Amino acid sequence: MFRKSIYKKYTPAITPDKENNKPKYWFIFLASEMLIKNKKHDKIPFISNIEEINLSPVRIQYLGLLKGNPCYSVELESGTDAPEGMVFKDLKLLYDELGEDIFLLAGKAFQIVNWDKNHQFCGRCGTSTENDKNEMAKICPECGFTSHTRLSPAVITAIIKDGKILMAKHLRTHGNTYGLIAGFVEPGETIEETVKRETMEEVGIKVKNIKYFGSQPWPFPDSLMIAFTAEYDSGDIKVDGKEIVEAQWFTARKLPRMPHKMSIAGELMEWYVNKYP
Ligand SMILES: [Zn+2]
Repeated sequence: MFRKSIYKKYTPAITPDKENNKPKYWFIFLASEMLIKNKKHDKIPFISNIEEINLSPVRIQYLGLLKGNPCYSVELESGTDAPEGMVFKDLKLLYDELGEDIFLLAGKAFQIVNWDKNHQFCGRCGTSTENDKNEMAKICPECGFTSHTRLSPAVITAIIKDGKILMAKHLRTHGNTYGLIAGFVEPGETIEETVKRETMEEVGIKVKNIKYFGSQPWPFPDSLMIAFTAEYDSGDIKVDGKEIVEAQWFTARKLPRMPHKMSIAGELMEWYVNKYP
């Protein structure tokens, strides 16, 4: 795997160190947009206090240290204007500008903001929750119910038959775009079983030799994509007609439109093209 680790420059922590008075990094969100500086490098706002740029946050979360400096995520109220020299941009489009490790950290910040926003009250009894002091969790002071940060694992698989790769057209995508077989993990199954079940449900075939390829956090809203390669075993393609409207075996020379290079789907496609040119 070619993913740059989130932990290259970042150290996670739950409680701020009172002795650390260095300027702070701020991952500031307005819905799905993040505030960045209008500069070529060092795009993340780097200041001691958020009030310095006249922003009044709804909520702030401590994330740990970035290059030894405290870093925080921030939720803003809708309608907030960007301070001078800064701009709000859709986080999804910031991969190239931020670089991979900072993009992944921004993705974590985005997930924490949304999790904090969506877990202000206990899901069991409705009491206001409190932050756990020891881990990233919210606790209900009334009934003790604990909510950890939410993650939804999903699998994506490159299925190969006689050097060809299986690609499917999803109902949701418009135009002539095909993707790999993917789906969410269900309770009680292993991730390899998810691969088998999803492939059977969506295209009606059996797969074998399922091998782990790599993983990618995907914070829109809270997925963890787990990628596999697999070989065709048996059965004829029969699409479910609900999620998948069409599926075909493609050769490397005649592939449909490719996913963005940052996505794990793109990496699986690159693996396929290199292995079966
Ligand atoms: Zn409760």
